[in-house]
Amino acid sequence: MIRRTPMNRGFTILEMTVSVSVLTIMMGGFFVLASTGTKLAGESATSVESQKAAHRSLVGVFDSLNETAMSSVDTTSRVFQYGVSSSYRSDRFQISGGQLRQCTSPLCRFHTREDLSIKRDHYWCGSEFRSPLFPTVMRGKIWPEEAETCPLDGAYTTTTTTMDVVKFMTARDATGDFVTSSGASAGPRWGGLVFLAPGPGADGLPELREYRIYASDLMEGTVTYSQGYNHFPATSPTMVHLLDFGTDGTINGVRDNKVPASPTISDASIEAFYTGTSGGRRTVTFYKSLYGPNGGYPQRLFHLTIYLDNGETNWQVRHIESLLVNWNAQRTFVREPKTLVPNLTEFAASTQVSNPWSATNPDGVQESSVVRLVVGTSQPNFDQGEKTWKHSVDVVTVTPKN
Ligand SMILES: [Zn+2]
Repeated sequence: MIRRTPMNRGFTILEMTVSVSVLTIMMGGFFVLASTGTKLAGESATSVESQKAAHRSLVGVFDSLNETAMSSVDTTSRVFQYGVSSSYRSDRFQISGGQLRQCTSPLCRFHTREDLSIKRDHYWCGSEFRSPLFPTVMRGKIWPEEAETCPLDGAYTTTTTTMDVVKFMTARDATGDFVTSSGASAGPRWGGLVFLAPGPGADGLPELREYRIYASDLMEGTVTYSQGYNHFPATSPTMVHLLDFGTDGTINGVRDNKVPASPTISDASIEAFYTGTSGGRRTVTFYKSLYGPNGGYPQRLFHLTIYLDNGETNWQVRHIESLLVNWNAQRTFVREPKTLVPNLTEFAASTQVSNPWSATNPDGVQESSVVRLVVGTSQPNFDQGEKTWKHSVDVVTVTPKN
């Protein structure tokens, strides 16, 4: 069972600065913390150890995000159709398929005090920012699946939980080397894509995992192109070549060497980024297509699905420049994902593009250069046969440097 825990008992704050700033809030349940919430020295050694463990596990998240380009960080779930203002977009992704439940109460005691004032760091876990056409949704704490009601306030829980996915470019190749290009286009050579997403864990809870794919993976599949194809290097494309469909914010099909990371500046006719299931397995899909201006050319397609259990990847890319000039590639392969944070029960990633700060959205991200990650974990503990959980929430701000 999950121990009922008064939420206003106080908390401990430990701030660390690496190349990122980390703010951890431990929730009680095992330790009676000082009600002033500032005392750490003299508290249980287990508490301190756990916080260090949480930070250590997040270091792996920093590394790849730190060295990407901010303009490539995409954490907006969407089904976008060019020119259709009612296209769906959300700062969060729905994660269904077991292992977790989420409190349905917008006033969950996880992020509200007795007087209904908000604990901001916790609020970021339960808040789903949507485009102006869709209202922002507030939910409560995510719990391990045995919690049919929220232990904090008794509200019903749902098995459709709201967590997150982040996608961004990497200049690391499959061997781990950071690759740069020379000459006029000097700088990182963006040969790969990284996805941070919750995958099914072995111990009954999800885990935050890193899934990677490289343009070179695709080149090991079935690749065909018309003779003399020169719209990008036909045998050694980068992710930018594969994903740049045209001038950002238009469907003109004229490449600008940039890949939009939000639907607002999409260069595709249709663009979709979502989580779902296929054959009972959880998946993440990124899809974009360009029909061709005025029903003509160019026509482009990028369709990628990654199975979150084992990293199996189905990937197809097509660039048809004109009637006789085209480039096509297709491959299915498996790259084992890397576990970053086990026992994951909360994950919210936000950027100014996915969740912009404004007077009406004061919890959005103000700075254009940062990625805000809220990562919650729940550690099981067995005390004289009784299973209890220790919950923690870390708020991490990363500033990509490329
Ligand atoms: Zn609740």
